[in-house]
Amino acid sequence: MTEAETPRRTETVTNGIPVSTGVGIGPLFVFAESFAFDAPAYCLMPEAIAPEVDRLKRAIVAAKDDLDHLRAEAALKVGEQDARIFLLHRQMLDDSSFQTQIERAIREDKINAEAAVSAVVSRLSDAFARLEDEIARDRATDIRDVGRLVMRNLGNRDPSTLVAPGEKYVLVTRELFPSDAANLDKDRLAAIVTEIGGKASHAAILARALGIPAVTGVNRFDDLAKRGGSTLIVDGRDGTVVIDPAPETLERYRKRGRAFDRIRESLAAGPSLPGMTRDEVPVELLINVENPGDVLPDRLDGLAGVGLYRTEFIYMNRPFFPSEDEQLAVYQQVLKRAGTREVVFRTIDVGGDKPLPYFRVDREDNPALGWRGFRISDQWPDLFIAQMRALLRASAYGNVKIMLPMVSTVEEVRRAQAIVQDLKSDLKRRGTPIAPKVQVGVMVEVPAAAIAIESLLREADFVSIGSNDLIQYLMAVDRNNARVAALYQELNPSVLKVIANVIRAANRVGKEVSLCGEMAGNFYCTLVLLGLGLRRFSMARHYLTGVGRLLRAVSIDEAEAAARRALNFFTTGEVKAFLGARTRDIFSSIGVALDESDLE
Ligand code: PEP
Ligand code: MG
Repeated sequence: MTEAETPRRTETVTNGIPVSTGVGIGPLFVFAESFAFDAPAYCLMPEAIAPEVDRLKRAIVAAKDDLDHLRAEAALKVGEQDARIFLLHRQMLDDSSFQTQIERAIREDKINAEAAVSAVVSRLSDAFARLEDEIARDRATDIRDVGRLVMRNLGNRDPSTLVAPGEKYVLVTRELFPSDAANLDKDRLAAIVTEIGGKASHAAILARALGIPAVTGVNRFDDLAKRGGSTLIVDGRDGTVVIDPAPETLERYRKRGRAFDRIRESLAAGPSLPGMTRDEVPVELLINVENPGDVLPDRLDGLAGVGLYRTEFIYMNRPFFPSEDEQLAVYQQVLKRAGTREVVFRTIDVGGDKPLPYFRVDREDNPALGWRGFRISDQWPDLFIAQMRALLRASAYGNVKIMLPMVSTVEEVRRAQAIVQDLKSDLKRRGTPIAPKVQVGVMVEVPAAAIAIESLLREADFVSIGSNDLIQYLMAVDRNNARVAALYQELNPSVLKVIANVIRAANRVGKEVSLCGEMAGNFYCTLVLLGLGLRRFSMARHYLTGVGRLLRAVSIDEAEAAARRALNFFTTGEVKAFLGARTRDIFSSIGVALDESDLE
């Protein structure tokens, strides 16, 4: 049957957690780790199948060449007899049925060559491994070896090249790791759908930073992985995912997408920077940056700077830790773009849901409670010292602040400060230029740190509330676990009380306090945070317009009154309903009409 004759598939609707707002429509594109080899598996668009088969053929020819070379080299080193193993491997590749089986998998299952090699090799090697005869059983290893060689010759490919040129696609994956997300070509992505992950997962944070609609917690990966050629609608406002939509559904969602764009445009129509309230109280607006390649936005006069530079992304997508000089080069580049604006560099925050491929940590039962954030720097001074030296050296080129993630105790801050003092003295002694004063601050994201805030403020030059983790630990809810996502509540009365306490304590002693978790960019939270005394908001740049405009439409008195009311409610639902209504009223006073789902 040709493509044109394929019957139209029936529309299916499924739901997940909305984590990045907007409506995205496009062909489904599956991205999965293959099971047998560490290679990605994709579903192919129909037009990508023939080029994929050609790619396989080229890889097999190259693998045969490799085997001829290996055999010649081995013959010289160990003699003809022992080099015969490569001849055997070559014969396997010459056997046309091996290639035919892989080709068939590409054509029939519409999967990429790596996934097809992986499937065929696993099937064959499993069959041999089950045999009685020991010699025959050993062939299982040979088959895997040959498979690996072909795989190596397939090389790495950019997944977006598999989708029809010019078309935006919907990425479907079981779990999007920060290192994958950092590689995404945002101009080709219509939306993201994942099985694992909640609102505060790093994949969600990246999707929001890129302004790409995303829905997580969609428990249908295995089903979707078999639907090459399907179209998907992703509504990142309410979590709806429509598979193979009927034409009328498609039209309805296209209209919704256009309405969403109109709201965005009306938000962008007025000034949002520099940050200030209606009664002209200044509020610093800053951006969060994840990627070294992210350029500070042009035409953003009035932006205070980068409130959170997640340096761990410099450590990802590379074979090993970056050296001090490599880091310095990246930091200098960022500072050059920032000009006189400040950049708060957060020291490496890996572990938990941000693994580094080359840094294998023993399996932990509770990674979120384990070796992550500053705990790694604290126990591994070489890592910390290299980064601190790079940051201190970078301070000569711009306005640098340093921030420590996942701090739980006062002693941790003292140890870090002591190292920084030693490094400063050493660098000065050597005549290396550094800024006269480099502030070292602390993220407040562990409940113990929030409770001991007065003591921490004695040691830290500034604090920043990491609400993503703080909520996770206060509510005892894994930020990546879709099952318990309903309990991940930024407007929970307990969360608000803890945040209020931190802001109050910092303001009382005149130390800088900001909030750099996702709450800072969530319109629902702006009023209450402002009313609690927050004057520094750091968020994905994409949210600056909305938050900036909201701030300019509200007075401090109104915000304080709203915060007082919000703190008196018993339930998250009550807080949300109250703040939602107030926020919509304020937006409508400046001519921006929002509906409930646009607010998150
Ligand atoms: C946070 O926890 O709020 C935060 C900003 O850090 P991350 O999201 O990178 O853990
Ligand atoms: Mg955090």
